[in-house]
Amino acid sequence: MTATKQLLELFRVDKQLRGLRSRLEGAERFYSQQAAQLAELEKQHAALTIQHRQIKASISNEDGEAARLDARINTLREQMNSAKTSKEYNAFQTELNNYKAEKSAAEEREMDGMTRSEDLEKQLADLAAKKTERTGIVAKAKADRDQKEADIKDRVNELAAQRQQLATGIPAHELRAFEELVKLRGDEALAPVEVLDRRSHEYSCSACMMAVPVEVASSIMQGRMVNCPSCRCMLYIEETTLEAASASNARKKAKQAATKG
Ligand SMILES: [Zn+2]
Repeated sequence: MTATKQLLELFRVDKQLRGLRSRLEGAERFYSQQAAQLAELEKQHAALTIQHRQIKASISNEDGEAARLDARINTLREQMNSAKTSKEYNAFQTELNNYKAEKSAAEEREMDGMTRSEDLEKQLADLAAKKTERTGIVAKAKADRDQKEADIKDRVNELAAQRQQLATGIPAHELRAFEELVKLRGDEALAPVEVLDRRSHEYSCSACMMAVPVEVASSIMQGRMVNCPSCRCMLYIEETTLEAASASNARKKAKQAATKG
């Protein structure tokens, strides 16, 4: 096999490898997107859980505060009952009013805390449901990715071995140039020359559809690999095109011979 043919073979093997891997990449991408969404839900859930715990603690603080004030109020009421002078009574009354105001403020904060706590509980339940649902999707996506990976594994190994063997027969600088081109152009790194009209020597590049000059076309016909002057992809000639060309040449020669004879 010539280096050109080997390069073409290598290109075909690479194309198959890319095709197989791109299917896997799609599944891989979906899986990692879903996993990232799940991680985000888990993060939100953890943050709200901390917030909820803090609110619960503050509710319990306010509750303790209200109970402490209540006890204080009860003591004051007893003291008021046994007040000896109206001045003493009034002093107790003022103190009592202060405690009452503090107690109702504590109770109000406790109520606010409870409302926020209930709101957070709803949000947490909602997040928990979303997490459960997303966990299922992630598990399915992972199974799908693993399955696709397993499906192509043997074929990928086979092609990788073929590729390695082909690569050994190609000069290093050619291989490098080829790989650079593939990086830039992917599946369109190499393209066959199309014969538009053989008699008037009209050829075109099948990647960019631009005309290929006759001299370029004829060196490609001789099996050389040449870059398309327009899009720079590597041009080659299909076996079938070459066979058709030589058959037509043979016919032409036969015809000429017949005319001469
Ligand atoms: Zn081109």
